Amino acid sequence: MKNANSLPHPARWLASAVVVLAALAAFALATLAQAAEPKNTAPVDLVDTAPVDLLRRYAPTNAALAEKYKGYVTKEVGFLAYGSQGTGTARTVTNTTVIPPNVTYDGKGEVLTADANTMSDAKGDQSEKQKPLFILCPGAGLKNVTITAPGCDGIHMMGDNSLDNIVWQDVGEDAASVRSYFPGGKITIKNCKAFNARDKIFQFNTSCDVKIENFTGDVMGKFVKHMASTDVPFAIDLNNITVSNVMSAVVLSESTNCVVRYHNVTYHFKGGRDKPDQVFRLIPKENVTKY
Ligand code: CA
Ligand code: CA
Repeated sequence: MKNANSLPHPARWLASAVVVLAALAAFALATLAQAAEPKNTAPVDLVDTAPVDLLRRYAPTNAALAEKYKGYVTKEVGFLAYGSQGTGTARTVTNTTVIPPNVTYDGKGEVLTADANTMSDAKGDQSEKQKPLFILCPGAGLKNVTITAPGCDGIHMMGDNSLDNIVWQDVGEDAASVRSYFPGGKITIKNCKAFNARDKIFQFNTSCDVKIENFTGDVMGKFVKHMASTDVPFAIDLNNITVSNVMSAVVLSESTNCVVRYHNVTYHFKGGRDKPDQVFRLIPKENVTKY
């Protein structure tokens, strides 16, 4: 058998060229594969901090809430990785992305599909055991992302967060939520769309000042659910909202400390029945202002 050295000159040159081209192609493929992975780099001040240790820093002072938070950090969430920007492509999500404090993750139009084996479970989209696709640390933001089915536990917002141009094609247990043991604060949700929420789209369980603007949703139990005791203040401002096939409420709160402001809200209950008492359900009338 001939090796390259025994070949005449032009053939040897050709063989070398093939080797070089193959190496270039391999390099290009590796670069492309790398580009399809989300950026998982921690900010400089967090390189030595595991995401789970960062989350531990936000433990609440209240003992009962701290105990629940400990369960959340140690048992509920699974493998965590930092993320600061997306790929702009379609990709499968196998673990929760932690967006560091004061960082806004730009998905650049990426389409995320949660891996049902690691992120969800066999009990369907209302299971409480599902993982969030993102945890937003205090001050973090998320924009330009589409989440397909399964929606899992959506997006966890710790407080002072913003969501911009997020589409939930099939909401899981909920689309985005603030847990009772998170710091809470100002939440801005704009230019978003959400579909197929059997229960609620947004859930807030602690003190928050929420503004939702330019939102479209179809098929939902409740658009917004606030569940906290009456000593927890909650303010929500709805601007340019269209929700259809609503089953239970546009906003539901059992707290007398819930204050609603709204402008240009269009709603249709499922089956076309108007249910005026269920638009701002259980909220004292004097707490609701149209502007
Ligand atoms: Ca659903
Ligand atoms: Ca949830």
